[in-house]
Amino acid sequence: KEKEGKTEKPSCSKEACQPAVFVPVDRLAEIQEARLKLPVLAEEHVIMEAVRENPCVVLCGETGSGKTTQVPQFLYEAGYASGSGIIGVTEPRRVAAVSMSHRVATEMNLPTGVVSYQIRYEGNVTDGTKIKFMTDGVLLKEIQKDFLLQRYSVVIIDEAHERSVYTDILIGLLSRIVPLRNKRAMPMKLVIMSATLRVEDFTQNQRLFPAPPPVVKVDARQFPVTVHFNKRTAMEDYTGEAFRKTCKIHRMLPSGGILVFLTGQAEVHSLCRRLRRAFPYKPNRECTEGEDRAQGLRHFTRKQRKKPAALPRIDLDNYSALPVEEGDEGDDEEEEDGDEVSDLDLGDNPDDYDEKSDPSIPLYVLPLYSLLAPEQQAKVFRPAPAGTRLCVVATNVAETSLTIPGVRYVVDCGRVKKRFYDRVTGVSSFKVTWTSQASANQRAGRAGRTEPGHCYRLYSSAVFSDFSLFSEAEITRRPVDDLVLQMKDLNIQKVVNFPFPTPPSSEALAAAEQLLVSLGALEEPPREGRVIDLKRARLSCPITPLGRAMAAFPVSPRYAKMLALGQQQDCMPYVIAVVAAMTVREIFDDLDRPVAKDEDGEKVGQRRARLAQNKRLWAGQGQSLLLGDLMVMLGAVGACEFAGCTPKFCEENGLRYKAMLEIRRLRGQLTNAVNAVCPDVGVFVDGKMPPPTPTQVQCLRQVVLSGLGDHLARRVQSEELLDPKWRNGYKTPLLDEPVFIHPSSALFKTLPEFVVYQEVTETTKMYMRGVCAVEADWIPKILPQYCHFSAPQENPGPRYSPDSGRIRCHCESTFFRVGWKLPSVEM
Ligand code: ADP
Ligand code: MG
Repeated sequence: KEKEGKTEKPSCSKEACQPAVFVPVDRLAEIQEARLKLPVLAEEHVIMEAVRENPCVVLCGETGSGKTTQVPQFLYEAGYASGSGIIGVTEPRRVAAVSMSHRVATEMNLPTGVVSYQIRYEGNVTDGTKIKFMTDGVLLKEIQKDFLLQRYSVVIIDEAHERSVYTDILIGLLSRIVPLRNKRAMPMKLVIMSATLRVEDFTQNQRLFPAPPPVVKVDARQFPVTVHFNKRTAMEDYTGEAFRKTCKIHRMLPSGGILVFLTGQAEVHSLCRRLRRAFPYKPNRECTEGEDRAQGLRHFTRKQRKKPAALPRIDLDNYSALPVEEGDEGDDEEEEDGDEVSDLDLGDNPDDYDEKSDPSIPLYVLPLYSLLAPEQQAKVFRPAPAGTRLCVVATNVAETSLTIPGVRYVVDCGRVKKRFYDRVTGVSSFKVTWTSQASANQRAGRAGRTEPGHCYRLYSSAVFSDFSLFSEAEITRRPVDDLVLQMKDLNIQKVVNFPFPTPPSSEALAAAEQLLVSLGALEEPPREGRVIDLKRARLSCPITPLGRAMAAFPVSPRYAKMLALGQQQDCMPYVIAVVAAMTVREIFDDLDRPVAKDEDGEKVGQRRARLAQNKRLWAGQGQSLLLGDLMVMLGAVGACEFAGCTPKFCEENGLRYKAMLEIRRLRGQLTNAVNAVCPDVGVFVDGKMPPPTPTQVQCLRQVVLSGLGDHLARRVQSEELLDPKWRNGYKTPLLDEPVFIHPSSALFKTLPEFVVYQEVTETTKMYMRGVCAVEADWIPKILPQYCHFSAPQENPGPRYSPDSGRIRCHCESTFFRVGWKLPSVEM
């Protein structure tokens, strides 16, 4: 056993860290039997000794070795929850927090409420809770309330290999909390659990843990998994390819569960539907011979004549073990061309033919993804009904978070859906990208838990070798303004000094701090002439009360600022709707694209005209027109909700149905958040928003200006128009080139002097999107942090202000860097 990392703090007496009692647990015999097969059970003694002797321990073990379900039980039995402290376990995914708490509760056979979970909006924690599973975000919020986490005697950070931002931050925080607790004779333990051995970022990190914590490795029994690459990579239609591959496995290969990895909920459901149609499973009834099924049998008869191989021997990793068959449901043409046909030659050996590979066996198809209801998730752990084969279609929750018993075949699409952050807007969106080699190998490993297995990758080995080795820590690939705000809310002032397992770049931190100062979320450091000198301030600006309010909203700081200011003039429901609409991208159907071959050109033309007409209608006139593209969004949301948000309404009116549903969900979520932060405001989700009054529109424009101050643009003045390329162009403080209002924008013809925009995209020109007009005299008042003011000058005219009795002065103001002359303000 490794002891090189003993980090005993002298102040933490051994007695204090060592719980006195042993708490017996009365488990059912069958549970006990299953437990004994888990690899971690063999290491219980080593793990518990390491925990007893060290404040922090890292535990590495293959997925399925029993870390999540067993380690909390070891700690419970060793008495870590017998005093006032409880055992906390964090998971990066909600699905794991919920299902693991249920599993541990069942295994321990304790009264309800002893093992509980807490995720963002729900939980079943009681006063008697001893083991609490939660998402990492929940524990982070608890640290904001009680920095020493005094309720906990142990915190387990699970799935640390996922390197989610909150997990990373929690580890950084706990590396400080644990010694603090031990110094105060309130000992606390930290256990970091990882499914991979790549833990140097935690153990070899002097700033994080000056004395490296010991690493306990659990050796799991892993059967060999044969990996088969496709010769040709499935590009667009990987769901179709996954369908064909799964059908082949089911028809050709001996018993054993199939686990298919796709990227998202919609794909999972679509594949489940297709598979159920192809191999129907009817509970308590003989399978009827439906049309699809008859088709399936036809294929089978043909195949049977050919006597395909079951699990043929593979010599080249470039070959699929599965014979290609013609005419898998519908997609014949695709299947026939292409070089994968050479697979046909594989394994025509009659000896390999397996009697058991009978395709008349129904496929018991189950979906699995994060947002699935817990009772649905629980189904994957139960044995498939007799006479069926289990097939789970999952997102990457099945990669390491949940272990499905009995899987022998894995089908891997090689992709993952990841959150990407737009550098311009800070708005996040999900995109499907290639996964990493480490993830792909984790997926393959799912096939070898109980016996040797096979993994079918729907991409070539060449593509695989281009995958990055490991998935990067999330913190390095996104802007960190929201994180910096959260940390300041935790009173961590010098974010640069924070012991991140992997630190974000100092530029990213400085940019975040700069933006937050401009938004008023952080106090402004001393000014050096016109520019705020963040270097001098050493990135340690304290948070303001406004910043604290902003930190409570689940959107990026620019939008949080709008929500924090949206209370005037009963504007809040509109601010919420506008923020929701701006956060969801592409709410209008993209009708600018060329008409596809199979489309009715006339119909598309009609819809295009309809959308243009709608946009004009929604933009309105006068004040509302000045809210510009945001008014169009607001009008679209209002009209759509008024019509009951139906797919038909959306299609007929050029709106994306999915986007509108997402906006509806977000409006609900943001309304809850606003009510939680400012209970006296009392906002309701008014689905059918009446149009805002002119005063409300004006208020909205000011609120938007306060959040998008760094996205201000000014129309080029005629005297500046030396170069014709600037005609109708706008100048921004940061870009050297002109930017333009897009012809599809509500403000294309108006060309206001000052506008703010949501983002700039470059097509034929640089176009601003999400444009809203603002008034020049608002700028020095709403964005003083961006302005430079002259020394006060006495006003001409009456010297005394009637209300204050003070001498009235004014300051000349100019906009920073670009020096735009703005109206003077009264002091
Ligand atoms: P690890 O955290 O090391 O990946 P787990 O503790 O999650 O491992 O899983 C250990 C075993 O418990 C796995 O074999 C898994 O299939 C089984 N298991 C987990 N949850 C359930 C459940 N709800 N029902 C039945 N078995 C389960
Ligand atoms: Mg686990």
